[in-house]
Amino acid sequence: MKKYNIPIFVPHRGCAFDCVFCNQRRITGSPDSVNASDVRKIIDGHLETIPRNGARVEAAFFGGSFTGIPLEEQNELLGAAYEYVKSGAIDGIRLSTRPDYIDERILDNLLRYGVTTIELGVQSTDDGVLKASNRGHTRADTVKAASLIRKYPFALGMQMMTGLPEDTDELSLRTADDIISMGAEMVRIYPTLVIKDTYLEKLYFEGKYKPQTLQEAVSLAKRLMIKFEENGVNVIRVGLQSTDEICENGSVTAGPVHSSFREIAENAIYRDIIEDDLKDAKCTRADVFVNPTEISKAVGNKRFNIMEIKKKMNIDIKIYPDKNLKKREVRCVCF
Ligand code: SF4
Repeated sequence: MKKYNIPIFVPHRGCAFDCVFCNQRRITGSPDSVNASDVRKIIDGHLETIPRNGARVEAAFFGGSFTGIPLEEQNELLGAAYEYVKSGAIDGIRLSTRPDYIDERILDNLLRYGVTTIELGVQSTDDGVLKASNRGHTRADTVKAASLIRKYPFALGMQMMTGLPEDTDELSLRTADDIISMGAEMVRIYPTLVIKDTYLEKLYFEGKYKPQTLQEAVSLAKRLMIKFEENGVNVIRVGLQSTDEICENGSVTAGPVHSSFREIAENAIYRDIIEDDLKDAKCTRADVFVNPTEISKAVGNKRFNIMEIKKKMNIDIKIYPDKNLKKREVRCVCF
């Protein structure tokens, strides 16, 4: 089923923290606060353009620590969105928040307002990384919040970051294992970017923080995506959402920013699979069959995979569809 999120950004309101990587205003591209009338305007605007055709549509409060804002304000925003749930115009409400802003009182209230999905900004489950990132919460907070949410009928999502200060690939992979074992149904993977006017930017300019290269971030994202998918966790986003303000020449000072980050990672996964399949083949030509929906990923952006395999393995490959093959299943016939 096709899904649409109507994004409603709730900037820095309610957030008493100062994570090293965060400049909330720039990330959301939305410097002002929102009220009930803004919520209605945003939802109405999106509903005009969303083709329903059985698609699931949710209002999505992102960009802040939603459950950290005063309850009356939460209820004002939720109440406005809930009108659309009650009338059947949208199917649910999702929001993102911090693990330490979850308790029974908060969850009871969210349930009353028709919230269907809660995404926790986990970022890492390593306490050293969390401390170095000035997150202000610990792994234990995340474990506690996840187990509480699982007692309610909410869908649980988690967001993790890679390349944080003091982070390593191994720690990120361990975070992924924790996210899986905490029962997340969906995950977002965000490589850390150095955003203008953040503490991380200061560390970067002082030479105290080295961001991941694009290649490093893609290589780790590939491993994370495979791990999540193999464990039934839906990877709903990889890479920062592009807004007018976040782009290669916008608010990003450094880091693995790329407008097609996920596509690059998906294509690289196919390149690995094909290379692995052909590694012992003593041939110079091969027909490679993949599921018809996966052809562009197997070919790669601007035929990158085909050219790389030729360069590295001296094999000319041609990609063909085979509807009997599943996603990520590849069949190579060598000549
Ligand atoms: S908790 Fe969220 S909004 Fe607050 S500083 Fe950290 S990343 Fe930014």
